[in-house]
Amino acid sequence: MTPEPGQNPPTPPRHGTAAPAIYPAGGAARTRWILGLRGARQPVTARRPNAFFVEAERAADGCVVPVVTILLTNRECPYRCVMCDLWQNTLPSPVPPGAVPSQIDYALRRLRAAHPARIPIAGGPMPGAAAHPTRCQIKLYNAGSFFDPGAIPRQDYPAIVARVTGFERVIVECHPALVGDRVIHFRDLLEQAGGPARARAPRLEVALGLETAHAGVLAKLNKCMSLPQFRRAAQFLQRQGIALRVFVLVQPPFLAPAEALEWTQRSVEFAFDCGATAVTLIPTRPGNGALEALAAQGEFVPPRLSALESALAAGLAPGRGRVFADTWSLEPFADCPACFAKRVDRLRRLNLAQQVLPAIRCAVCGAGEGGPLASRPSG
Ligand code: SF4
Ligand SMILES: [Zn+2]
Repeated sequence: MTPEPGQNPPTPPRHGTAAPAIYPAGGAARTRWILGLRGARQPVTARRPNAFFVEAERAADGCVVPVVTILLTNRECPYRCVMCDLWQNTLPSPVPPGAVPSQIDYALRRLRAAHPARIPIAGGPMPGAAAHPTRCQIKLYNAGSFFDPGAIPRQDYPAIVARVTGFERVIVECHPALVGDRVIHFRDLLEQAGGPARARAPRLEVALGLETAHAGVLAKLNKCMSLPQFRRAAQFLQRQGIALRVFVLVQPPFLAPAEALEWTQRSVEFAFDCGATAVTLIPTRPGNGALEALAAQGEFVPPRLSALESALAAGLAPGRGRVFADTWSLEPFADCPACFAKRVDRLRRLNLAQQVLPAIRCAVCGAGEGGPLASRPSG
């Protein structure tokens, strides 16, 4: 991704040192353990989004469309998942009403100036209509749950909706436990903003973190969610005609690397069984303190780029829906400096093509040649 003005440069966190050695079995002790290993937050402000950029993504109808992503600066998520590092770019207290719409304005003003032909104007003609050939979607990710009552003030919903009516789809993220009336309210506002015939109404898509379909591993992640809870939230969205996107971790903690690929496949299957139209595979990123402690205990092995490549190929193979690899900041997963850039580029092309392309061959590491780090062959 290309950094845009307003984007905070990543800085390694400074980890705390006061945590006990063994990961507690559960409850408040587990949360204290996770918090005790944290470093400092990044300096962020409610007046500015954390980052914003435009990417291309394969849409559900097969077309490749531009997608604006705005990483909103928000209060920290109230959950304390052991693998989460999103708190690093959050605030300890809620943002005031009006802050989130202002952040969206800040980002869209700059993105429209940089990409005038690609970013729709709020309230403009429906994207994709003959009079306006531009199609564009928007992700509003807030490092937590969009429908968390402490995250996005409900009174800001109309102002947010007014800013996204020119987009064909609005994608937000949410913990499954917070899927409820607020989702319906926001969806209804989007539809009302689309005019009497809802012709300009952006479609709402909610991204839920499944993380893994391995019930035992999921229970240890401290996400406070079970597979039946996830399924209920997905069914709720389906009944309301709201699209579902699912996040799945590649090689989470508490899972042996030898089992990781199988469980990624099973998690992708579970997501599609729950009605997902898209699944994003996220390599489990070290760097939050807790994962380093788990690695020291032998409970976590950071995935390599080859694990993400294999997971994407395996996820695409059944052809049940779109499967994407998260390609943001993959440097920590590099296996080989000689072929890293080409392999990341290949992952991006796979995301757009939604089919497995020939593997990158590398004489240094043996990728694509059956060597120890070989990419999964095409086909
Ligand atoms: S629910 Fe999501 S944002 Fe919240 S702590 Fe867990 S992974 Fe992080
Ligand atoms: Zn290589």
